[in-house]
Order: sequence, then structure tokens, then C-alpha cells
Amino acid sequence: MIDPFGRHVSYLRISVTDRCDFRCVYCMAEDMSFLPKADLLSLEEMERLCAAFIRMGVTKLRLTGGEPLVRRNVMSLIEGLGQYLGHGLEELTLTTNGSQLAKHAQGLAQAGVRRINVSLDTLDETKFARVTRWGRLGPVLEGIAAAKAAGLAIKINMVALKGVNDDEFDNMLAWCGREGLDLCLIETMPMGEVTHREETHLRLGDVRADLARRWTLLPSNYATGGPARYVTVEETGQKLGFITPFSHNFCESCNRVRLTCTGTLYMCLGQEDAVDLRKALRASTDDEALEAAINRGIAAKPKGHDFDIGRVAVPRHMSVTGG
Ligand code: SAM
Ligand code: SF4
Repeated sequence: MIDPFGRHVSYLRISVTDRCDFRCVYCMAEDMSFLPKADLLSLEEMERLCAAFIRMGVTKLRLTGGEPLVRRNVMSLIEGLGQYLGHGLEELTLTTNGSQLAKHAQGLAQAGVRRINVSLDTLDETKFARVTRWGRLGPVLEGIAAAKAAGLAIKINMVALKGVNDDEFDNMLAWCGREGLDLCLIETMPMGEVTHREETHLRLGDVRADLARRWTLLPSNYATGGPARYVTVEETGQKLGFITPFSHNFCESCNRVRLTCTGTLYMCLGQEDAVDLRKALRASTDDEALEAAINRGIAAKPKGHDFDIGRVAVPRHMSVTGG
């Protein structure tokens, strides 16, 4: 699949549910309303969609959300998708808040998942409760320990928030070093209405310059097919990534599209261009209409986002399209 700007689309991110057991302040409003369950694709429909994407050239799938591990029976989808590994699919992975990870780590490894991203913005229990509104740190740390024990490689995603966790970067880097985890710092993106976005926005260029005074950040060619740019931290041997949608626009190398839990395919996190795959999927049991709809989507992939922290780029929250 090649878009109008010559970019190969080989990476599909699927938001398997818009629901979550946390309410992170930068991601969701406190009083979120969720999609009616009747509108959701079934897990079987999601697998059929993924199979079509794999046939058409997708080699990497990431399950996200909302919180993917709160969707009922999600492990059956993950096991089903694991069957495609080595048959067109090269990588199956997920991004999780870790709250349910202790239960599922072993199953994920058995299904063929090799690495996962776990979101963790702070190692301070009180702050953790404040940032996630509904979450508790303990189960997340247990989940990370279980994932390590199951042999999964882990990257920690930390959203950098001024006045919230900007005093913790050194501590998090050192902890990741001791635990053998990579770390990726993320700038907040203006998606959906949330509180205090502008006040907490931090430019990661400044954070990186400050970290470089105390840590040796070696250039690295490491790439995961995502938007992060990596360095190796000499003192720990672990990778440190930066996702900087404002200071460095990663759109020119964008290789991905995003599917919501209702079957809408978004071609860009920060734009409204979309096609309805649910209709095509349900129109017929053969996949001709579905493949045509996917091709229409790829042909409409926009050049890039135009994020501006002072303006909400798209009304949907990150949890709808999947971060
Ligand atoms: N619930 C899972 C989790 O938290 O990892 C998966 C979905 S969550 C939307 C995926 C990632 O997006 C998380 O790392 C989260 O920190 C990040 N995220 C959410 N809202 C964001 C925003 N407005 N700007 C930047 N990153 C955001
Ligand atoms: Fe839930 Fe993830 Fe959004 Fe936090 S970032 S509210 S864990 S979907």
C-alpha cells in the first residue's frame, strides 16, 4: 500500500476499545462518554480486518485503545492474530497502561508478542493517582515485573508534563536502567478537550538538552517503525526515545494508519480524514468491498498533522484513535 506521497503503509494500529480503567488527565476528560457497545466491531470482525490488512502489506500490528486489556476476551483476538506471525505479519505488539498486565503477560508471550509499551508517567504513588485519576501504581509495577518474567521486552512511555513529572526524568531513566527497560518521552498532543493542556506542555528539546548535562546520550540508528527518535544512554545501556510532534515533525516517514473499535480507519492521528470499514466489512462475506475501502483510505492519507498546542487539532480524544 503506497499513499499519494510515496510512503509505504505497513503498520496498523487498532484501538480495540475506547474504554479504560484510568482517566489520565492529558488523554481523557473526567466525565467521558463512551461508544455504545452495540457499535463496536466484534473481535472476529477485527481479526478479519487485520487479515485483510496483512494480505495487503501490513507487517506490524499494534493493539491499543483505550486500554486494550480491559476488552472482554481480548486474548482470543491476540491469539488469533498471533497465528499470522511468520505468515505476512512480522510483529504483533500492544500499548497498555499495565493495570491488567500481571494477568496476561504469560498469555501475550505465548501468543507471539515479543515486546510491549507500558505507559508510566511517574514512580510516585500519589502523583500516579493524580495523573491517572483512577489508577494505582502498585498493580502496574506488578504487571511490568510479570511481563519481564515472561520474557517480554518493555518500553516505558512517559508523557512529559510541566509541573507534574518534570522533576522525575533522571529518576525514571535510572530506574529503567536498573530494570532493563527502554524509555520513551512523549510531548502532549492537542487531541480532544482536556484540562490544563497548555500549562503542562513541555518541549522535549529542552528536556533532552538538560538530560545531556548528566547523562551520555549516544547517537543511535535504532528505530521501531514508530515516530520516536532514539539515543543510547551510555551509563545504563538502555535506549531513550523522544516523540516530538511539535519540534520535529515525524510525518514525512509516516508508515501507519489507525483503526478505531467501530471500524473507522483514520489515516492520520491529527486529521479527520477517515473511511468507514465496518460498512464494507458487513456488506459482504468476501473481502472485495473491504479491500477497495482500504485502498480508498490509503489514497486519502494526508501529508501530515498541523498540531498547535494552543488549538485542539481534532475533537476526538487520544483514546478513540489509539495513541
Ligand atoms: N491505555 C493504553 C496506555 O495508556 O498505554 C493505550 C492507549 S493510550 C491512548 C496510548 C499512549 O498515548 C499512552 O502512552 C499515553 O500516555 C499516550 N497519550 C494519551 N493521550 C495523549 C496526548 N494527548 N498526547 C500525547 N500522548 C498521549
Ligand atoms: Fe487510559 Fe491510556 Fe488514556 Fe490513560 S492514556 S486514560 S490509560 S487510554
